[in-house]
Amino acid sequence: TTADLVMDLYMICVCVRKRPLNKRELSLKDLDVITIPSKDVVMVHEPKQKVDLTRYLENQTFRFDYAFDDSTTNEMVYRFTARPLVETIFERGMATCFAYGQTGSGKTHTMGGDFSGKNQDCSKGIYALAAQDVFLMLKKPNYKKLDLQVYATFFEIYSGKVFDLLNHKAKLRVLEDGKQQVQVVGLHEHEVKCTEDVLKLIKVGNSYRMSGQTSANAHSSRSHAVFQIILQRKGKMHGKFSLIDLAGNERGADTISSNKQTRLEGAEINKSLLALKECIRALGRNKPHTPFRASKLTQVLRDSFIGENSRTCMIATISPGMISCENTLNTLRYANRVKEL
Ligand code: ADP
Ligand code: MG
Repeated sequence: TTADLVMDLYMICVCVRKRPLNKRELSLKDLDVITIPSKDVVMVHEPKQKVDLTRYLENQTFRFDYAFDDSTTNEMVYRFTARPLVETIFERGMATCFAYGQTGSGKTHTMGGDFSGKNQDCSKGIYALAAQDVFLMLKKPNYKKLDLQVYATFFEIYSGKVFDLLNHKAKLRVLEDGKQQVQVVGLHEHEVKCTEDVLKLIKVGNSYRMSGQTSANAHSSRSHAVFQIILQRKGKMHGKFSLIDLAGNERGADTISSNKQTRLEGAEINKSLLALKECIRALGRNKPHTPFRASKLTQVLRDSFIGENSRTCMIATISPGMISCENTLNTLRYANRVKEL
């Protein structure tokens, strides 16, 4: 019905962000196969060959709420995705923003900021930009009088286990009480008074996220990172914004990998991303069989999917290169499904 449609548009916003070709792709002379002909359309131009070896381009078109091309800054992406959700948590709601895509497509760059160079700059990531707006909103007379406190948490879900990135990667238990309230036992909630406090926490958390890794993307690409900004009033939760840098969605190589651990991790990631899709699709639709418990990720985020005043956005990040075509198409199809009624 029309009412459902309006609800749906209101509750979930799905966007795509294309990053520029990187040095490696340029040195391999990889082709850019993605165009963004208008602000809500993504086209994939996949090079193909007929049986008689003549080459042609197979063009596929996808439509989203927004499509950001490779010249878009984090601030712009933020303005159209997470920014509109900040108000939700002041109005006692739950907000969630996901970055979804293949490893190397720009999830961490979008959410956390730039950790690639020597001078790590997290001030332009969506975590920091959202925190900055939270502190601005706190100053507004209407919210100021509520006397809200701000807390931050930062944790990682790896192979179905939860680790506190703000407490030496301590392994945490997840408990569900009789009323289906989910609790991450012992998760450190740090009180933050300004954006600077938040930046410090992001740096600490990120250093734990990267520690003990052989290659830069080895572990972090296989884990979901969850950064939360929590508003409290008189010791009770008022609203919560969860910002999530999901595990890479590419799984092809895992199934043929000889390493059992890798295969299990891959299966766990698949399971959680499938459950996530179903939980988002069920948002606000009162579905009886929403698979919250199918994965640790959806279990932990449960309260964000069922809150009456919940809002979600997904930023699907894509690589522009021809070598990433298959993964890119998978990402676009997933993002499309999230949005479909
Ligand atoms: P992911 O977290 O999805 O694995 P990253 O965010 O680590 O990917 O991005 C991979 C590399 O590409 C990093 O060096 C990052 O700085 C760079 N990058 C990603 N997105 C962009 C962008 N929009 N503009 C410029 N560089 C980007
Ligand atoms: Mg990453």
